[in-house]
Amino acid sequence: MGGNGPAAENAALIDALIEAVGLDHTTTSTDAREVASQDVYRSGELPLAVVSPGSTSEVQAVLRACMRHNTATFVRGGGMSYTDAYLPDRKQSIILDTSRLTAVREINARDLYATVEAGCTWAVLDEVLSEYGLRSVFWGPMSGRLATVGGAMAQGAVTFGSGRHGPSVNAALGLEVVQADGSLVITGTGGQPEHSAFLREYGPDLTGLFCADAGALGVKTAVTLRLEPRPGAGEGLSFAFDEFTELVGAIEAVSRFGLVTEVFGAETALMRLAAGRAALKQDAGKLLAIMRGASGPVQALRTGLRVALGGRRFLNTAKYLVHFLAEGADAGELRMILRRIRRAVGGRGVEVANTMAEYARAAPFPDPMIVGHSGRRLLPLHAIVPFSRAVGLHEEYLQYLEDMREECEEKQVDAYVVYSVSGKAAFLWEVVIYWDDEWLAFHRRYLPDEVQGVVSEGQANPGGRELVERMRVDLIELMYRHGAAHLQIGRAYPYARDRDPGALELLRTVKRQVDPKGLINPGALGI
Ligand SMILES: Cc1cc2nc3c(=O)[nH]c(=O)nc-3n(C[C@H](O)[C@H](O)[C@H](O)COP(=O)(O)OP(=O)(O)OC[C@H]3O[C@@H](n4cnc5c(N)ncnc54)[C@H](O)[C@@H]3O)c2cc1C
Repeated sequence: MGGNGPAAENAALIDALIEAVGLDHTTTSTDAREVASQDVYRSGELPLAVVSPGSTSEVQAVLRACMRHNTATFVRGGGMSYTDAYLPDRKQSIILDTSRLTAVREINARDLYATVEAGCTWAVLDEVLSEYGLRSVFWGPMSGRLATVGGAMAQGAVTFGSGRHGPSVNAALGLEVVQADGSLVITGTGGQPEHSAFLREYGPDLTGLFCADAGALGVKTAVTLRLEPRPGAGEGLSFAFDEFTELVGAIEAVSRFGLVTEVFGAETALMRLAAGRAALKQDAGKLLAIMRGASGPVQALRTGLRVALGGRRFLNTAKYLVHFLAEGADAGELRMILRRIRRAVGGRGVEVANTMAEYARAAPFPDPMIVGHSGRRLLPLHAIVPFSRAVGLHEEYLQYLEDMREECEEKQVDAYVVYSVSGKAAFLWEVVIYWDDEWLAFHRRYLPDEVQGVVSEGQANPGGRELVERMRVDLIELMYRHGAAHLQIGRAYPYARDRDPGALELLRTVKRQVDPKGLINPGALGI
């Protein structure tokens, strides 16, 4: 700080930010700072300003100003996370919001890559690429209507494409990253003159170094993604199971051969709760989308009727549900793959109406539901484990939940398990905790239009909130004991804990190199 005192120093910082990005894109209003400093789970400190640069050079200017004024920068993409990942931990900070970095810079349909700015959402990118008959090999998380390409590279995500290609970061061919002093790093073959950005694997994997870094190693301003042709045919299959062991066995058998592009599912108890008015209202929109996607009006009516009638009847019976989305180059190949999936599941489960699978295919990017059924608050916590450890993890969790049952009932807290995969050999297990509570400004801001007036805010429930926080800590410990890895590390998961000392020191050395004052996403990764 200079000799003029903190207030004058901060005024000088704001002036520098305005000079960097313009007055219209530098916000100091309390409301905007409040929403930006909250995530799905909770609130951080109020930053001094929220700035929205519109180009790489503006990002560079913002970071230079922050470094000069010893101010931390917390980077926010779509804001759709819940691991304190961009929440300021100090007042002397700004939030750098990437929502204006949306350009699709290049699509190379022949060489199968596209370079896109980090604030572009997955939904927008997919729409643009569909005009070329292409898509990114990882093409988005379910929150992709608001979640950004940069966010998924910084913290890692799974869902669309993950059955075959694993997490989001596997789609990255190269990155453009701004370091704390404003200097630029370009990774991948795009970083050499006379070369295009078509390849990641050339020398040490510097792209990988910046992937899933929780934003600790700089601000990603652009990402080059690996593309593939869109499939000619697709269909979802759904199965119900009574035993968790059978469910895991079926997902493992299907995944190991890369038969499916997406896998997702949940305890049916959660689906029953979620099948209330809000879901029905959302389903109506998705049903229309399914019918619009059908090949002709008669086919549309038949598909619509089948899906609507299939409805949610099976929710009353089995304990677990899973949906497999499969694709083929044409109808013939798809039929063969569907047969192989049914054979791999075998007698473990029962095939049920594929309503939800078809909804997901028709409307992959609905407005993200940042509160639960009927407006309850929610917190997802996940673990990625090898298939061999999935059942052990789940059983210890069930025992834990049983031990907590009375307190949960008393404080209106519930938890349900959902699951997915990350590639062919990793099971993604997630518990979603729900509790009655008041909303944050964040929830009011991002509540989807279609459920406005259908779900409502609860009463303040400090006891429930305290219990959820205790369960969060306990469950992360439980996952650690089962050897879990995580996406969305942020400041929630123990990435650095007991890590090989050589690897940790190397990472800390890199952090010191790219961010000597520790001003970018401080605390992220725990390094
Ligand atoms: C309803 C709902 C559905 C979801 N579905 C899925 C799902 O299907 N799969 C899944 O994996 N996750 C899912 N999520 C979690 C989350 O939305 C995703 O992980 C998503 O990728 C987050 O992206 P974002 O742009 O919102 O990132 P943010 O939440 O804004 O940021 C996440 C982290 O990335 C950093 N960051 C963001 N942009 C940059 C950048 N340009 N440079 C450097 N660092 C950056 C931030 O600092 C922060 O640490 C879901 C969440 C919700 C609420």
